[in-house]
Amino acid sequence: MKIRVLSLFPEMLEGFFESSIMARAVKKGLVEYELVNIRDYAVDKHHKCDDEVFGGGAGMLMLPDPLGRCLDAQGARDKRTVFMTPSGRLFNQAYARDLAAEEELIVLCGHYEGVDQRIIEEYVDDEVSIGDYVLSSGEVAALVLVDAVFRLIPGVITGESLEEESFGGAEGANLLEYPQYTRPSLYGTMKVPDVLTSGHHANIAGWRLRESIRKTLAYRPELLASAGLPEEVKRLLAEIVIEGGSHEPYPEDPGRADKA
Ligand code: SAM
Repeated sequence: MKIRVLSLFPEMLEGFFESSIMARAVKKGLVEYELVNIRDYAVDKHHKCDDEVFGGGAGMLMLPDPLGRCLDAQGARDKRTVFMTPSGRLFNQAYARDLAAEEELIVLCGHYEGVDQRIIEEYVDDEVSIGDYVLSSGEVAALVLVDAVFRLIPGVITGESLEEESFGGAEGANLLEYPQYTRPSLYGTMKVPDVLTSGHHANIAGWRLRESIRKTLAYRPELLASAGLPEEVKRLLAEIVIEGGSHEPYPEDPGRADKA
């Protein structure tokens, strides 16, 4: 996959592409990337890229001319082009899987108040939000999207790791990951559940599925509302509900709308 990120501050992105799993994916030839400085496409002597918003109001908006030239130079009309914006469609794992299937992806980062609407209408396929909050720039949001997408490209990390993680579709359901433990098996007075040290693979798998369902029920019950829930998950869910769904719920949800 080739990823181009269009930004006024490409230096904010460099470290990510040059480090860790991404750097390995690039070295292996699984990912190609280009960090494009939008300012290079501003033709005036000050390389101006923003101006006041028509109609008034605080803040500046990114100018359409440099952006249009930049997007044309990347061939954006023929490639999936994503604009990061808090008013976009909410990003999630299924969305990441969809984008990971593209051969080329252009990610446009906004700054200031965002970009002129005509650029969105002319070039953008997807307006994407990473959550219901406002960041100061699109670079951080773009990195979230690129990170979630590139790790799904075959060969970047093992397929097994992807299936066994939250939203990974274990057992065909959109569950949160089960609790995990490492050495020592006794930490203070807290002991690792016996089943995990038993070496009995079927029992371990059964425990993990049950704990995944319990955690999902406690933290993100809406994920269990899907009509396509596998029979085994439905059966265990019914048992857990009868038992009282005993995974600790969040003590307080900081995002709750009715919170005082
Ligand atoms: N005026 C915009 C609004 O109210 O929707 C907010 C602009 S924000 C200060 C500057 C840039 O940060 C946006 O153009 C966008 O690229 C990025 N951004 C901020 N929050 C974001 C979010 N939740 N998801 C994706 N991008 C975001």
